[in-house]
Amino acid sequence: MLAAIYRWESGFQMEEMVTPRLGPGEALIQVHSCGICASDIKFVHSLALARDANGHVLGHEFSGTVAEVGPDVASLAVGDKVAVEPVWACGSCYECRRARPQHCSRQRVLGFSRPGAYAQYVAAPAVSVYPLPAGLPLESAALAEPLACALHAVELSEAGPGDTAAVIGMGSLGLLMLQLFKMRGVAVAGLGTQPQRLQLARELGADEVIDVRSGDPVAKVRAWSGGRGVDVVIDAVGRAEIVAQAIRMGAVGATVVLFGIPDVDGAVAVPHKAFIGGERRLIGSNATHFLLPRALALLSLGRVQVAPLITHRYGLDRLGQAITSLERREGGAIKVLIQPSQGK
Ligand SMILES: [Zn+2]
Ligand SMILES: [Zn+2]
Repeated sequence: MLAAIYRWESGFQMEEMVTPRLGPGEALIQVHSCGICASDIKFVHSLALARDANGHVLGHEFSGTVAEVGPDVASLAVGDKVAVEPVWACGSCYECRRARPQHCSRQRVLGFSRPGAYAQYVAAPAVSVYPLPAGLPLESAALAEPLACALHAVELSEAGPGDTAAVIGMGSLGLLMLQLFKMRGVAVAGLGTQPQRLQLARELGADEVIDVRSGDPVAKVRAWSGGRGVDVVIDAVGRAEIVAQAIRMGAVGATVVLFGIPDVDGAVAVPHKAFIGGERRLIGSNATHFLLPRALALLSLGRVQVAPLITHRYGLDRLGQAITSLERREGGAIKVLIQPSQGK
């Protein structure tokens, strides 16, 4: 099979690879669409910095068709259209036995610690492979994984009917989060820098959109919320100065969710007394487990729109170019899909 392999000397290149052989409990999936994630871009930068000489096949947000199942797999059949939860837990470590698989110490992630879906085929444990609801297009299903991550962050925030929320960062994840807030009866403001994305946020239901380049975003969010601040803030960018702003946007009792992953790790300061007096919460949200079926249901019911987020599609042979164009937001790129059946 062909795969787009990252090599730090030469970037991404298409190479012939052995099609994965199935281990116990695994299924082989022919990839239809795989979304480029901000974490792919960050991982590539880290591999380049480390001069990592191992070839890597990335890609974890994908859909496809079951091409082969192991003899011990009863839950899937060849030809099933599926989406895959790319993170799985060992089931036997201390955290797994406390029913906290998201903190598994032996967690494997497809596209990072195992070969991913920027390839014609990928092998995955059948327990993480979910058949699509009838009628859901494969292309939309490739966004089930990021939607599940967005759902986890929104659920952790505990925002409910009548609350107010601000989402900072109108990338694909921010645009999914604001739709999920609307579904929960939450009034939501979307903050970003790109006029096209802010316009899309408005079309997808944002009650307010704020261009952070035109004045102080904290003052604007506070003004929008009647001077109180908002009940929930999600940082979907991942920069320390934005976290500081997010904290200042929060009302008494606010929950601030850190979701965007920083390029460089560091500390963020919290106003000590305001957190005690206002019983504020600052929490992290990292990927997800077991939310993919619910994400697929939301897509199938049409409660969350993903088609307007998909702006570009490329073949495997153009993965390097696709990543660069997303990073530079060329041509209004929001969600860029790699489709191995395109191009070569
Ligand atoms: Zn992702
Ligand atoms: Zn574990």
